[in-house]
Formats: sequence, structure tokens, C-alpha cells
Amino acid sequence: MNLSAIHQVIETNRQSILDHFFELLRMPTISADSNHKDDLHHTAYWLVQYCQKIGLKARILPTSGAPVVFAEYCPYPNLPTLLIYGHYDVQPVDPLEQWLTPPFNPTIKGDMIYARGVDDDKGQFFSFLKAMEIIYSQTGSLPGNYKIVIEGEEEIGSAHFEELLSSQKKLFQADSILIMDAGQFDRGVPALVYGLRGLAYFEITCTGPAFDVHSGQFGGGVPNPAISLIKILSQLKNDRGQITIPGFYQDVQEPEPWEREQMAQLPFQEENIKKELSIRAFQQELNYTSLESMTVRPTFDICGIWGGYTGSGSKTIIPARCSAKFSFRLVPNQIPSKIATLFLEHLKSIVPPDIDYRVEVLPGIEPILTDPHKPIFTAFNQAIKNHFGRSPVLIRGGGSVGVANLFKRYLVPDSICMNGWGSPDDGVHSPNEHFSINDFFRGIHSTVDFLYEFQASLIRG
Ligand SMILES: [Zn+2]
Repeated sequence: MNLSAIHQVIETNRQSILDHFFELLRMPTISADSNHKDDLHHTAYWLVQYCQKIGLKARILPTSGAPVVFAEYCPYPNLPTLLIYGHYDVQPVDPLEQWLTPPFNPTIKGDMIYARGVDDDKGQFFSFLKAMEIIYSQTGSLPGNYKIVIEGEEEIGSAHFEELLSSQKKLFQADSILIMDAGQFDRGVPALVYGLRGLAYFEITCTGPAFDVHSGQFGGGVPNPAISLIKILSQLKNDRGQITIPGFYQDVQEPEPWEREQMAQLPFQEENIKKELSIRAFQQELNYTSLESMTVRPTFDICGIWGGYTGSGSKTIIPARCSAKFSFRLVPNQIPSKIATLFLEHLKSIVPPDIDYRVEVLPGIEPILTDPHKPIFTAFNQAIKNHFGRSPVLIRGGGSVGVANLFKRYLVPDSICMNGWGSPDDGVHSPNEHFSINDFFRGIHSTVDFLYEFQASLIRG
């Protein structure tokens, strides 16, 4: 199929595409603020109407929170289905006084559109819908089977979306998932995310005397739970950056040689980040780079630690208790519950005998990994190359993405890909959020090519 006519239509309609996008950006869809409940409903309804106009069967799926927009186009029984995810809710705007332009009155300056949600996430999923609209208007059909899901509570944890997903698995069932809520690795360096780290999270409390006691009177005799806690935590990771729990690395899948090669070539701005974060140096696990240590290797971190006297001046006590919250970031194929078992077993052998302790195992998250040679990645690779002038880099994220795990758990798809056209310095969640107009249009063009390329690769098998 010759797509140049479709690309031409995009170029000649740039202004009306932007006008339409700005309509969406003007809707103040702040999910965290109950005053915007009507705005969420209004926007969901607006999106349903838009999806209906572009050939999709669309409807609102009500939840006890914000409604979910669901649209589908599945006329090819022999082809797999791709589910595209986005969210129409946005972060709150405060501190409002730091915005240079009103957050819900989109403003263009140079190549940038300034508005709350312009990158996260309206610009990402809207570029996808625009590509579909233009294909549909030019050909009367869409290439492939699609389900579109746009939720309204991503910024507050997607709790009602999970309820919906778990109770209506069949409706959402899809072979591949595309989460349009990621972004470029760096401006001009598009990226496809094919993996995420998981998480095992704990809270521990060590207890000593029944109440705080005088350290002059009892120091040297009564066991100090703060010292015990520090000893325990400091033993969990050695000086080589390795976690010391026996069996911890048993299920760890080593990064493949091509992954390490590709990571070595990423424009990772180590010096800039050091300056920005005011840190002297990056750490790393022995035999791995710092970028590898932050993405494809498991880690241990103390997230908070408290106990005893923390007021001004000195108060000479042995505290009754001391606590900490800490986490292990996990990589494929580690399982949070297995890590918890290993950790609790190991703990028995390292806790000083004169100390009582209590551990709470907090909810864990499984790591995610998709083979980036699946059709969804190869199709995007070609499409992005066509319009960004370079192939996207394939990356694994160091954190977790809640909805990716929901999809993995309830739909068990063949592949999960995360994509987006924004850049790390777009100021998402911050005042003056912005998004490049050029990248927005390159995203629409790339999506057109992706849709045809993806369908063709599925037919080729
Ligand atoms: Zn988002």
C-alpha cells in the first residue's frame, strides 16, 4: 500500500490536527481532585464520540471512579489483536504560580506546546488515534484488529481500572499490548521499552528495652535495637554491590550480549545527571556498568529509617525500637514471594540473638520482559526509522509501571511494548509541562507506518 497520500493528508492538516488536540488539552482532567469529576466524565464521553467517528465501536465502561473509554475494531478473525493503552487523566497543576502559561490553555512557544497533560499522557494516545482517524478517512478501514483502552485514574493508581480488568478479562483479551505512556530515551532518540524491573518491599522493626532508657545508666549492657538494625541492613549488600542473601541470584536472567552492547552505546549523560543530582559518583555492581546496575540488575535500597531521639540537641537514650523500610528491585525471572522467603530465612541467621524483630512483607511487583524481536517491536522499529531518521533504542526500565503488571497478570499477553514521543525533559508532573510539536507529528506519521507494518508482519507470520 502506498502511504504517501496518508502522510500528505497529515501534513496539509497540521493546523486542524493541533486545534483538535487543543480541545482535549483544555479539559482539566485532574483525577486527584474530586472537583473535576464532571470533567473526567465529559472527557471520556468526548473520546468515545471521537473513537466512533474513526470507525471504532466505542463505549464508556463505568467504574465506581472515573469511567474507562473502550473502543474496538476487530474484523479479522484470523489475525491477533493489539490493545493500545493510554490515560486521559492528568496530574494536579500546583504550584500554579510557577506556570508561565495557564495549564489548561495550551500555548505554543517555538516548537513546544505548553499544557498540563500534553505529554503525560494526552499527546501519546491522541497521536495514535489521529493516525487511525486519517487512515480511516482515506481508506474506509483500519489495518488489523485493535482494542483501545483509555482510563481516567492512572495518576492515582488505577485501582478501579484493575477492578474492571479483573472482572472483564474476555473483553480486554489481546495478544499484544502497547502502552502509549513512555517516551524517548533522550530528545531525538526514540525508544521502545521491552522490560521493567519488579519489586520486593519490606518493613522491619527491631526492639530492645520496653521503653527508652538512659544510655549512661544502661549503655554497654542493654542491647541497642538501632545498632542491631544497622548491622542487619548493612549486611544485605557487600562492597561489590552484590546482594548477600543466599539464593538471591538463582533465578536472575543475565542480560544478553546484544543488550549490553546496545546499552553501552546509549547516550547516557552520566556527567550531567551527576551534576543535576549533586552526587559525586555513580555506583555499580561489580562487572556491570552503572546503567546496567540501574536497569537489568537487581538492587537493594533502604527507603527510610527511623527510631530513637531525632530532636534538637542531645538526649542520651537507648531507644526502645528502630525501624526501616527497604526494597529489592527485581529482574526477570525473580519472583517477589520467593525473594521474601529467602530474605526471611537469611534474616534468622544475621539478627543478633539479643534482639527481637518483626518484619512486614509489603506488596511486591513482578518484573516484566518481552522478547524485543516480536512483531510489535520490529514494526515500530521500521516505522520510527522512517520518520525520526534513526532506529529506536531498545531499553529496559529500572522501575515498574502499574498497568503493565495489571495487563501481564490478567491478560497474559504474548508481548508488552511501551512507547511514547515525549522527552525526559518535558516536565511531566511539573509546572510548564510541554511537548514538541515536531515529535507529536513524527509520532502520528510513525504510527501510520507502524499500523500497516504490524499488520503486514502478522500476515507474513
Ligand atoms: Zn502517564
